[in-house]
Amino acid sequence: MQQSSVIIIGTGVAGLAAAATLAYANWQVTLLDKARSAGGRCATRRTTKAADSPWFDFGAQYFTARHTDFIDHTQQALQAGQLQHWRPDIGCWQNGKVQASHDEQVRLVATAGLSSWLKHQAASLASQANVALHFQQQVSQPTYQANKKRWSVTTQQGQNFTADYLIVTAPPEQSSVLCSEAAAELSNRIQAFKSAACWSVVMRTTVMLPYQALFFKDHPILNWAANNASKHPPQKAPKNAELGLWTLHANPAWSAQHVDSDPTAVAQQLINDFIACFPESNSSNQSIQNPPEAVHTHRWLYARPADDLSTTTENAAPFIYQQQQQIGLAGDWLAGGRVEGAWVSGNALAKQLLA
Ligand SMILES: Cc1cc2nc3c(=O)[nH]c(=O)nc-3n(C[C@H](O)[C@H](O)[C@H](O)COP(=O)(O)OP(=O)(O)OC[C@H]3O[C@@H](n4cnc5c(N)ncnc54)[C@H](O)[C@@H]3O)c2cc1C
Repeated sequence: MQQSSVIIIGTGVAGLAAAATLAYANWQVTLLDKARSAGGRCATRRTTKAADSPWFDFGAQYFTARHTDFIDHTQQALQAGQLQHWRPDIGCWQNGKVQASHDEQVRLVATAGLSSWLKHQAASLASQANVALHFQQQVSQPTYQANKKRWSVTTQQGQNFTADYLIVTAPPEQSSVLCSEAAAELSNRIQAFKSAACWSVVMRTTVMLPYQALFFKDHPILNWAANNASKHPPQKAPKNAELGLWTLHANPAWSAQHVDSDPTAVAQQLINDFIACFPESNSSNQSIQNPPEAVHTHRWLYARPADDLSTTTENAAPFIYQQQQQIGLAGDWLAGGRVEGAWVSGNALAKQLLA
């Protein structure tokens, strides 16, 4: 019997989770992504092109695993040394001051930056005969031939792909546009889902700060900061000069207000506000001689679900599937946001297709 085939748009957590489950069931899987490599919002870069230059996560920062299947999935990567537990000294900024914050949360990070974990998964999929991965392929409007029950995708780069099923894992605004012609009803239905923006700035500083990560409870601009150096395995610790490679995230309200602001001005604002939280470290000689500098600035237009969807999705499936056209939608926005939600969503949609 001929195996079913599927085109999956997106090689983030959700797309790769769906692909792994369907490839395991021997489906013909075609993965397409407009980016140069896998990861999506689990995004990592290096400070220079040199392979040994320090890396930083500028999208997702760490993740948690509570769902049994997801725990199993991460266990394999922990054993392979791709993931590790992260136990930073965490501070919390509240009422104008920083205090130590203790919790029992088990946090996971990747030993070479979060995208490396997804790249391992993509490479493992690409090594299978029934899986094809194509990067730098941007999909505009998939088409559905009802008489043949077949999806067809032509990318902006001019390549054509066809399959029985289509899975879209982009954020809701982008998924809605992608489905607007071939699956208009679906496209309309998801217009209620909105994403929040996030400005992300990575800053280098030689000044040692008293924490490795910070939550900001009621700060007007910031909501998160983490020193990427603290995520390296001890044996691969970056050189002294790179002691502080901090990722700073602005909060959703400020990011929305400044969504069209100049990136250089945004970077300076976030850095100024962050160092102002540590007046003692800031007045040190080190800080004056080597003022902190921005090494990377990124505006995430669709960073996270704008609303907490955990309550609305409590009793609902963590995906949307339309049987008639054999099209499914998956992603963090259908399962409470976050890395774990994205994986649960992609995996559950794939199981639905196999049922
Ligand atoms: C700044 C920031 C901080 C975060 N912090 C955390 C955190 O600490 N912990 C946590 O658990 N989560 C965090 N998240 C959320 C987490 O990153 C996401 O929940 C998760 O990565 C979503 O995965 P996904 O597969 O659903 O979507 P995505 O990762 O967005 O994947 C979608 C993929 O589709 C591709 N794509 C889109 N449109 C097209 C098209 N037309 N053609 C081809 N390809 C297309 C994209 O290139 C992308 O690779 C954070 C996110 C951001 C942005």
